[in-house]
Amino acid sequence: MRVGRPVKPLPHPNCDYCGAPATLTRAGDEAYPYRDDHGPLWMCADCQAWIGIFPRSTRNVPLGRLADARLRDLKVKLHAALEPLVQAKVRRDGCNVFEARSKGMKWLAQAIGVEPDKCSIHTLDADQCERAIAVVEHFAQERGQHPSDSAVDER
Ligand SMILES: [Zn+2]
Repeated sequence: MRVGRPVKPLPHPNCDYCGAPATLTRAGDEAYPYRDDHGPLWMCADCQAWIGIFPRSTRNVPLGRLADARLRDLKVKLHAALEPLVQAKVRRDGCNVFEARSKGMKWLAQAIGVEPDKCSIHTLDADQCERAIAVVEHFAQERGQHPSDSAVDER
């Protein structure tokens, strides 16, 4: 039984690399890593690791774990590998791109043994990202003869 309204603590992520609490930085701050405004970021300056927040989040909820240079690179690669499958599904099924991406991530989560409900490209660590890229690449090779088939339909 709940008494009163529970007050959720504000999310405050720690750096996944050194464990120190991340700092919220905004465009224009000295530590802010981008020249352009990419929105507020939770950042560890020592590790040069950061993560964005959910769009329109008033509580600055982080999108996932802080990512260092290697993990950012892997996320870009995974996104690039997955996107053709996503676009194929959008073209064929007429669903929207967010739905197709979310189904793609669920398929990947299952393939690499991650809890699908909690899985997004931003919650994966470097090892999981590498495994996910391998899964997508293997799938693309297998289906190379039939480029219109999409992994996203398997579930
Ligand atoms: Zn750190």
